[in-house]
Amino acid sequence: MKYDVIIIGSGFAGATLARKFAEHNKKVLVLEKRNHVGGNMYEETLDNKVRVHKYGPHIFHTNNDKVFDFLKNFGDWYFYEHRVLGKIQHKLVPIPFNFKSIEMLYEQKEATKIKEKLLKEYPKQEKVSILDLINSNDKTIKEFGQFVYKNVFENYTAKQWNIPISKIDKSVINRVPVILGYDDRYFQDKIQYMPKEGYTEIFSNMLTHPNITLELSTNALNMLEIKDDKIYYLQEQFTNPIIYSGAIDELFSYQYGALPYRSLNLDFETKNMNYYQPTSVVNYPNDEKFTRITEFKYFSCNIVESNTTILKEYPKNYDYRDENCIPYYTIQNEENLNLYYKYLELANKISNLYMCGRLAEYKYYNMDAVIERALELYEKVSEKYFK
Ligand SMILES: Cc1cc2nc3c(=O)[nH]c(=O)nc-3n(C[C@H](O)[C@H](O)[C@H](O)COP(=O)(O)OP(=O)(O)OC[C@H]3O[C@@H](n4cnc5c(N)ncnc54)[C@H](O)[C@@H]3O)c2cc1C
Repeated sequence: MKYDVIIIGSGFAGATLARKFAEHNKKVLVLEKRNHVGGNMYEETLDNKVRVHKYGPHIFHTNNDKVFDFLKNFGDWYFYEHRVLGKIQHKLVPIPFNFKSIEMLYEQKEATKIKEKLLKEYPKQEKVSILDLINSNDKTIKEFGQFVYKNVFENYTAKQWNIPISKIDKSVINRVPVILGYDDRYFQDKIQYMPKEGYTEIFSNMLTHPNITLELSTNALNMLEIKDDKIYYLQEQFTNPIIYSGAIDELFSYQYGALPYRSLNLDFETKNMNYYQPTSVVNYPNDEKFTRITEFKYFSCNIVESNTTILKEYPKNYDYRDENCIPYYTIQNEENLNLYYKYLELANKISNLYMCGRLAEYKYYNMDAVIERALELYEKVSEKYFK
């Protein structure tokens, strides 16, 4: 066999695995259906020299040293702490809500009362969930929780997921925090960095290795065939490991129906001004049809003067029959997971086929989590096949 491993997809799942196998002297074939590497982390530089994230803004943050140590091999990173504002009652206030947000939206006397009560009720805590606030026996705290729920969470969630708020799982509401202080960082992870020359350079360096053959603009499903629980590459049975990071329902021709996702319309605009907004991301939870605006210059070390590019994100339904529609967010509920497990059962019948990544595992992964998963899978597969 010409290749020791075949990998489908060149996002972080595929690229991490390809690199690990290549470094351990395995010949790897990577098939990628897009005309570029990097999956959804791909960045491109526009004519005005602003580098944009083509599939929506991606900020790297993690508590996992192993993942960051791995990534540091493929380019330089610069320290970047993400800060988000939200348009609430015509003001741009820190998101997640913190003490400054309270001061901006309440009269001074009321703001002081809320802050004092929060500190007394939740001593030694850095944050509290809005669900805890809403369930509080204290009237001031409860009403404050309801205010945050209504202004930050309710309309935003309906817009993002297009389902009535009553259908949202309580665990989701439970994850929306209020910060008990003035920390205005969006993430609290100990490692927060962005690639100096962009994600595309990181991917390109990961995939540049004498043991890696990369074929872009190649839909793997035109080259693979599954028959009697065996897998064939170009009509020949392939018995070495195949790692698939595309959509699991597509691999099995949607035979049980399509797995539901939310998609996005991404609207990029270039403006003749130095900066458009005061921070990289502003959320619009309420009146506007878009959910947020990203201004990419804030992510880049190479600051371009005199114009800037922004992105508005409009959530929409996903239709797998529409080639231009990208599956962005899985919709996690019991029904959809049961459908996913049926596909997983089919995949598990093929002993040398492995699922890895957000589409193959029908799971929301942050970048660090998908890299961690890929590193673990590398150990498992190499142990079974190559040791
Ligand atoms: C809007 C948005 C914003 C996000 N922001 C962040 C963030 O700020 N921080 C963070 O940590 N995470 C973020 N994420 C999560 C991040 O995007 C994922 O962790 C990451 O995309 C997962 O990588 P992956 O390799 O599993 O998937 P992908 O990046 O989607 O890669 C899969 C690859 O497989 C290819 N492929 C699929 N089918 C085939 C086929 N049949 N043949 C050949 N190739 C195929 C695809 O073209 C694609 O290149 C965000 C996600 C979304 C949707």
